Amino acid sequence: MYKVMIFIDGTWLYRTLPRLAEQSGKGEFKIDYGVLPKVVARELADRLGVDYAGIDVVRNHIFASLPTNYDHLDEGLITRQNEFYTLLREDYHYETELFNIDFRGRRVRQADRDPGDNFQPREKCVDIALASKMLYQAAMPFGMDIAAVVLGDRDFTPVLQTVRQLGKRVLLVSVRSSCAQELADPEDRERVKDYDTLWMDDHIDELELRYEPQWLECQSPEHVGERAFQTTYRPRRGEPVYCDACRSAYSQRRSSGASAGYQEEESEYGPQAGLPTIGETLEGVVEFKKEEKGYGFVTTDDGISFFFHLSDLEDLDFESLEEGQEVLFEVKTLPVGGKAGAAQNVRPMEE
Ligand SMILES: [Zn+2]
Repeated sequence: MYKVMIFIDGTWLYRTLPRLAEQSGKGEFKIDYGVLPKVVARELADRLGVDYAGIDVVRNHIFASLPTNYDHLDEGLITRQNEFYTLLREDYHYETELFNIDFRGRRVRQADRDPGDNFQPREKCVDIALASKMLYQAAMPFGMDIAAVVLGDRDFTPVLQTVRQLGKRVLLVSVRSSCAQELADPEDRERVKDYDTLWMDDHIDELELRYEPQWLECQSPEHVGERAFQTTYRPRRGEPVYCDACRSAYSQRRSSGASAGYQEEESEYGPQAGLPTIGETLEGVVEFKKEEKGYGFVTTDDGISFFFHLSDLEDLDFESLEEGQEVLFEVKTLPVGGKAGAAQNVRPMEE
């Protein structure tokens, strides 16, 4: 039995997948992380000339970075990234090691930043964490026999060499257009691998995440009629699922419920009555603060919530800002539907 551990450079993979998708003529391409270890095991069995059952993938590690202090326009993007890592951890049992990168209030994607801005996020932690975890596992007696590494940067050359010097074998899993020459070299002059490289390019159809429609049962207590429905949506484990009809009924109720206070006033006093105006100075309390992400919400006495980013603070320090603290601020944007407005110049209450 061969014990295999998979080590994924998530930052590299995140950068590489769109290119891989483009080359293979696929528009939207997502990798199926449940299938990846199986492909690795099968390809290893092939290369070793053993039965598939003789390969035991004991652990999958993924190392990646998570932006902090980013421009709040990227909130949705980062939420999706977070959900993705939670999915890997909880549903696919990956070991996820995530490292924060301070974006200093900037947009996460370089394409979204000012072209003159030469800001470079520092993300060296990911490489070093991957290297040290792999060396640790390679040096452990009875730890692993084979490290399957999903990466492409030449910085990993010395660590792959050392893993091999420790008597462990290395399978390189990479993408042709995103793999450093030293690693890709079929003659392996740098001595970084024990097998022919597993090119993800050659297995793209197999690795692609497909949303095959499946039958689920609507769990809404208000559902009427037959509960089974077909969907391509993959609910998270334990997540309640609703059919389309129940979901749209629910979201309609929610959005009207969230602004119920104003709707009553609307009918009595006209559309804008009761709502603050943009630029208006309001009093509020810090309702909630997301420490590691650099944002929070303030709520007025009337119960209207406004988002703020740490760059919206004035004479206030984000770290020492406390939930429940009273503040003054100006309205930057108004709430829409169920979505909070935005605050600016969030500052201490005048004494
Ligand atoms: Zn339903």
